[in-house]
Amino acid sequence: MKIEEVQTTNKKSQKYQKLPFVFLGQRTNFKILSNDVEVLDVHYIPKLRAFVECNGKDCEFCETNRQLYRENPKTFRSHPNYFPVSTKYLLNVYETTPAIICPNCGEYYKDTQVLTCDSCKASLVGVQPQSLNRVHILRIGIKIFDKLKKFLIDPSTMVDDKDDYQEIIEKFDGEIPPIQAWNFVIRVDPNDKKEQDFQVNSNPSKVFVPEEISNLTLHNLKDAHYLRLSNDEMKLIYKGVTIRDVLNSRNSQSSAEVQSVSEDVVEDIQNAVDSLFG
Ligand SMILES: [Zn+2]
Ligand SMILES: [Zn+2]
Repeated sequence: MKIEEVQTTNKKSQKYQKLPFVFLGQRTNFKILSNDVEVLDVHYIPKLRAFVECNGKDCEFCETNRQLYRENPKTFRSHPNYFPVSTKYLLNVYETTPAIICPNCGEYYKDTQVLTCDSCKASLVGVQPQSLNRVHILRIGIKIFDKLKKFLIDPSTMVDDKDDYQEIIEKFDGEIPPIQAWNFVIRVDPNDKKEQDFQVNSNPSKVFVPEEISNLTLHNLKDAHYLRLSNDEMKLIYKGVTIRDVLNSRNSQSSAEVQSVSEDVVEDIQNAVDSLFG
């Protein structure tokens, strides 16, 4: 091959766009922008603390789960190769969690004690936390989704005070307020990340639809997914291969037109995994 025929790609220059997922901190504040929801089945891999999308009816992980169940119907859940499947619900939200926003590059930090921007190294000393006000994709499990669904059908289930409820309804001419009107909070117990608490702010003065909300561009939920592995790659996980190595070997085999997965992606997946436990 001649020099001029070699296709070069500078991996560092391939700017990876961070997926705009909500990272569930101890407290996440948001409005829901649309009733549209994307539903995904995922497997949780305890030893890697990672979620991987289920491959449906031919899924390698499902097949192994079934086999483990057949072999040991009582204890299969504690087998290290048992990767339980659960459903995740993805929604477009307007996140208003207070955060430190880097004045230099726009990166944000929910840890308001942060002193330096990881992304551009700018000093964040003296920067005051502010409401994020960004369109993000929220991923929730069945527990919170069920509560949310119940609430949307009958908000009185979560608005404790009857007078407050009456006042809210009156503000909306006797109708139940639209989904965009409510402020929601998800709290995560830092000591037990599985313990998530879902609340609605039912203060009548705060239940309203902000004018600018209709101009926001929503994310395409079809593009938002969890890590996807082929059945062959799933087999590697049982052999102890890490997700990073699976993705790296994908890179080295990939042809020019297949976009490589950068270190950032692997990092981001790990961050997402860490913050979305449960
Ligand atoms: Zn599966
Ligand atoms: Zn920065």
